[in-house]
Amino acid sequence: MRLLCTLSLLACALLAACRTAQPPALPTSAPTVFGVVSGTSQERVSYVARVLDELAPQIPLVVPGCDTRPIDVRLVAEMAHSNWRGATFSMRSERWMELPEAEGNERLAATMAHELVHYLLGSEWSTLPGVLEEGLCDKVAHTLVPGAGPLERAEYAVILGTALDGSYRFDAQRVIGKGKAAHFGPEMMTYTVRAPIDRDTMPTFEEALRLDSRDLEPNRIKELRVVLDALGYLIVSRIGVHDLHQLCRRAHLQNLTRVPPLWLLEAAGLERADRDGWRIAVDGLFGDAERRALLLRDGLQFQDGR
Ligand SMILES: [Zn+2]
Repeated sequence: MRLLCTLSLLACALLAACRTAQPPALPTSAPTVFGVVSGTSQERVSYVARVLDELAPQIPLVVPGCDTRPIDVRLVAEMAHSNWRGATFSMRSERWMELPEAEGNERLAATMAHELVHYLLGSEWSTLPGVLEEGLCDKVAHTLVPGAGPLERAEYAVILGTALDGSYRFDAQRVIGKGKAAHFGPEMMTYTVRAPIDRDTMPTFEEALRLDSRDLEPNRIKELRVVLDALGYLIVSRIGVHDLHQLCRRAHLQNLTRVPPLWLLEAAGLERADRDGWRIAVDGLFGDAERRALLLRDGLQFQDGR
């Protein structure tokens, strides 16, 4: 028995450096050991301040080469773009992070961990390609907020599988019920899941590693962005944070502006990978926890019949 379903496009947290951006003025704030959190609700600001004090000191423990700088978190009613989960803005000497004030607690913590990596990365990481920076931020977020990992990894596998083959196929038990009542029955099924991306406009994975995510054309960025985020996550997962740091330092010592794609592919064990090799790498993201998270989550739309 087969079931076809469609994955909605992921919201992604971006490193934004907009020339006209200003830190939003907000009525209330709470100082923390690591900076300040501002927003409209004192209760929410105080809660997020505690989350910041819990997460900020952990970033340098898992990411070598971090800078020490005070962190300015602004809790906003709406992000500048509806598909952003969070953003870190850098304007000359000014830097601040925006997060949606009404975000659920686990999502907020995972997004803050992701943005803290953008915020604190030091100059040793300057040769890291933009595509990989997003993957690094996601990897650290999943390390510090493990509950956020399985669904995002599952979505990345579906996105990369769709980019490779037009869809991602896997076997799992049949899902019975919907929403919070959803559970697995005994019957095994083959699921075919598609992310809504246009493969005709996609670069190859090797080409994508040469792109800087901040230089992409705005009209292509949304769709391409989810593939780049997924690709960055896969490559960072296979290389590991510390070995990736060493590659960045090596590129810096050789006066390169960016780590060459071939170094990245070699370190990820994918330099000679054909389509099957990439498929095996993508499957490596998708274990039992990811299968369960994808199938039992609220909102996965099964659009076609069996
Ligand atoms: Zn980001």
